[in-house]
Amino acid sequence: EKSLTRLRVCVLGSTGSIGGNTLDVMARHPERFEVVALSAHSRADVLFEQCVAHRPRWACLPEADAAQALQGRLRAAGLATEVLVGAQALEQLAGHPEVDAVMAAIVGAAGLGPCLAAARAGKRLMLANKEALVVGGAFFMQAVEQGGATLLPVDSEHSAIFQCLPEARARWPQVIDHIVLTASGGPFRQRDPDSLHAVTPDEACAHPNWVMGRKISVDSATMMNKGLEVIEARWLFALPPDKIQVLIHPQSIIHSMVVCRDNSVLAQLGTPDMRVPIAYALSFPERVESGAAALNLLNVPALQFEAPDLRRFPALDLAWQALRGPEGSTAVLNAANEVAVAAFLAGGLRFTGIAATVAACLESVQPAADEVASVEGLLALDARARRQAQAVIARG
Ligand code: NAD
Ligand code: MG
Repeated sequence: EKSLTRLRVCVLGSTGSIGGNTLDVMARHPERFEVVALSAHSRADVLFEQCVAHRPRWACLPEADAAQALQGRLRAAGLATEVLVGAQALEQLAGHPEVDAVMAAIVGAAGLGPCLAAARAGKRLMLANKEALVVGGAFFMQAVEQGGATLLPVDSEHSAIFQCLPEARARWPQVIDHIVLTASGGPFRQRDPDSLHAVTPDEACAHPNWVMGRKISVDSATMMNKGLEVIEARWLFALPPDKIQVLIHPQSIIHSMVVCRDNSVLAQLGTPDMRVPIAYALSFPERVESGAAALNLLNVPALQFEAPDLRRFPALDLAWQALRGPEGSTAVLNAANEVAVAAFLAGGLRFTGIAATVAACLESVQPAADEVASVEGLLALDARARRQAQAVIARG
C-alpha cells in the first residue's frame, strides 16, 4: 500500500464553529491530515483540550498572560506544544514552511493578515473567513495569484459552486452564465418587518438550519451574510455583480447553483452540515468521508424558493451597492457591519439599526485610491469606517 504524505494543517480560529468542525473531519483521517498549529482568541480551556486531543506543534493566543498559563498547563500534561503570542505569530504560522494548508476560520477582518500571509506563501488556503476577502478584494486575489496559493472556498454556497465547476479555472468564464446563491432566509424570513426593530440578540442567533458563531448568525438574520457572500463570489469566481443572484430556499438542501451558457443548471445538494465543504477543501481534488449524514430525498420536505424581500432585508442590497461603488467600498461595508453587529449583540443598537448604520457609512466614507493598494491602507480604511460606524451609532 502506498503511504500518503500527510497534509500539515494550521487551523486559525480552531475554537469556533468552523474550527471545531475542521478538527472533527481531520480526526476521521489521521493517515491523511496532521494538525500542526491551532489558534484561538479566547476560550483557552477549549484550546487546551484541542491541544491534548490533536497534539499540534504550535498553539497561538492573543495575550501573553493567557499564553503563558496555557504553556504551563500543556507542559504539566506532558505536551511539547509551543505556545506563541499575538497577531504577528499568527501570520508566521500561516506562512510557515512546515505548514501545507491553512484553514482560515477566524471571524471578521482580523483574519486578513494571516490569510494574506498564507496566500503569499503559496499555501492551500481554505477560506471560511469571508470577511477577509470582502475587505481585501482585488488586493487579496492578487496576493493569491502572486504567491501561487490554492484558494479553496469553505463557505457552503461557494463550495457548492466550486464543486459544480470544471477543475480548470481557465474554463470557468466559458461555462458560467450566472450563479445563484441560495439563502435560508434566517430566523426572520416570515416575521412582520415592522416588528424587526424589537428583536433580541438571542432571537437573531436562533438559526433554523445551521449552528454557527454569533456574528455570522446575526449576519444571517439580517441577510448581510448573503451580501458578504455575493462579494465573496464576485472575487472567487471573477463575476460581475449582476451575474450573481440570490434566491431564498428555506430547506438549505440545495447549497447553490451554476446556470451555464446553455441554460443547463448545475446544483450541489446535501444535508446542511459544514463538514461537507470543509472535507472537500481538505481533500480536493479527492473526496473523503466527512461525517455528514446522507441526504435522503424521500425524507426531505418539499423544496421551496422565493425572491428575497428587500424591505425585510435591506442589508442584502447594500452588497451590490458596495460592489458598484469605488474600490474599497466593500471594506467599508464590512467594517461598519462588524461594529454594528457587535453593538447589537451588546444591547447598544436595534436590529434594524445594523443595516441603517452600514448604509450611512457607505454614504459618508469615501475610500481613497492609496487605501486599497496595501494591507496598511486597507487596515487604515477599515479603522476609518469603524470610527464612522461608532459615530453613527452614538448619534442614534
Ligand atoms: P466563531 O465565532 O464560532 O469562531 C471564531 C473563531 O475565531 C474562534 O476560534 C475565535 O477564538 C477566533 N477569533 C475571533 N476573533 C479573533 C481575532 N480578533 N483574532 C484571532 N482570532 C479570533 O465563528 P464561526 O461561525 O466559526 O465563523 C468563522 C468564519 O467562518 C466567519 O468568517 C464566518 O463568516 C465563516 N463561516 C462560518 C460558517 C458556520 O457555519 N459557522 C459558515 C460559513 C462561513
Ligand atoms: Mg454561507
